[in-house]
Amino acid sequence: MSQSHSLSYDLSCDCGNVKLTAQGSPELSLYCHCPSCRDLYSVDIAPLTAWSDDNVTLPDESKLFVHKMRDKEMVRYGCPDCGMVLFGRHKPGMPVIPHGVFRKANGGELPAELAPTLHLFYASRVLDIDDDLTKSQGGEAVGL
Ligand SMILES: [Zn+2]
Ligand SMILES: [Zn+2]
Repeated sequence: MSQSHSLSYDLSCDCGNVKLTAQGSPELSLYCHCPSCRDLYSVDIAPLTAWSDDNVTLPDESKLFVHKMRDKEMVRYGCPDCGMVLFGRHKPGMPVIPHGVFRKANGGELPAELAPTLHLFYASRVLDIDDDLTKSQGGEAVGL
């Protein structure tokens, strides 16, 4: 535990105008297969980390572009200058940062300690995944 508190991630968008930091360990690192993530991020599978609000320092909403999905409690935030998406807020309200944002800050590699531990909403998938991670068919593995 003491080591995890020393971890700090300085993250930024492609142009560098928007910065955020994450500290310590995420609550979860996962692959989400839910239809809402597919719509929100325009991907087949969403590789995400979910954080406690206490562990992230996020830019003020006024400095970001905000895409709030119609009829869903799903929002993504990005840089208004370069357009890169930096984080989202999903139904339980937790800030969610895509793996790619950490990869970008780490020479293309996902930091080892952020490796995903499960697939969420696997029953809603559009791609089958052949790996050894837990496949949560819905959100039951994380109490959703
Ligand atoms: Zn930017
Ligand atoms: Zn999802």
